Amino acid sequence: MSVLVTRASSINRALDEIGDRWCLLILQEAFWGGSTFGGLLAATGASRGVLSDRLKWLRGIDCLRQRHGRYRLTRKSLDLYDTALMAVAWERCHYPVAPQQDFTLRHRRCGQRFSPVLACEACELPVDGRAVAYEPGPGAARDERPVKTRRRSSLPASAVPAARNVYRQLVTLVGDRWTANVIALAFHGIARFDDFHRELPVATNTLTDRLRLLEDAGVLAAQAYQRRPRRFEYRLTSKGWDLFPFFQTLLHWGDRWCDLNGKGPPMLLRHGPCGERLRSRVRCDQCGDPLEAHDVELTFAEEREPTTAGDYAS
Ligand SMILES: [Zn+2]
Ligand SMILES: [Zn+2]
Repeated sequence: MSVLVTRASSINRALDEIGDRWCLLILQEAFWGGSTFGGLLAATGASRGVLSDRLKWLRGIDCLRQRHGRYRLTRKSLDLYDTALMAVAWERCHYPVAPQQDFTLRHRRCGQRFSPVLACEACELPVDGRAVAYEPGPGAARDERPVKTRRRSSLPASAVPAARNVYRQLVTLVGDRWTANVIALAFHGIARFDDFHRELPVATNTLTDRLRLLEDAGVLAAQAYQRRPRRFEYRLTSKGWDLFPFFQTLLHWGDRWCDLNGKGPPMLLRHGPCGERLRSRVRCDQCGDPLEAHDVELTFAEEREPTTAGDYAS
């Protein structure tokens, strides 16, 4: 079996588990109350075969459990709720939709419509990726990960269904492994083609393709740093930096659930404004409380009835 060797990263480990586009779509639906095979089939637009395959995978990694014909979230997948909220926040900010496709988020505890914000647990300031420093953690090493034999569908962006899908663009970007990896490396200041290529076991034409895709999406901006031959640096735009909270929640989840060798986090983050090790929670911007899945109602304009994450199977 072939293996993929990369710098140990909780983001990569998390993406190995749930970073496939269909898995992201299925979990998204589960967070908004989807729980039956038929419901998930209609909402995700997956074929029966693909849906069965991904549901089996998600059960195998203990992110879903099946009980009385319904799929339930688990403690592990509920812990991705912060990630889902930050995905929603990014998409809302950068891809406004028509009123009939819009939705509202309401926090039951304070009764307000809200926006989710990632805040530092120590100083309570919103987390900005530009003010975060990195140092190797106890689990710093290189990961050898078997290349999954699981069939990956190459789902074009246009095929990601729009119905009830509140982070379509993000699923398109993050659901592609190399694209997600390039963004994660850009947070560390990596900007040049050769440096991306040194970190990623990826074919050069694929890397070129992904850099162009991220440039087209407005996540990276290319700037020439050399004239002959012409060479570019790819820097995150503010839209790109706005993805940091999503990745930060994913990293936190990976630290917690994907530390397979038990050595601890591969990387430690320090929050610039307070100087403390960065631990963060997603909070309601109205009352400041941390957000729990069962306290959040999501209401689609055309449906009127609020949906909320289903019961979880402990
Ligand atoms: Zn802080
Ligand atoms: Zn609130």
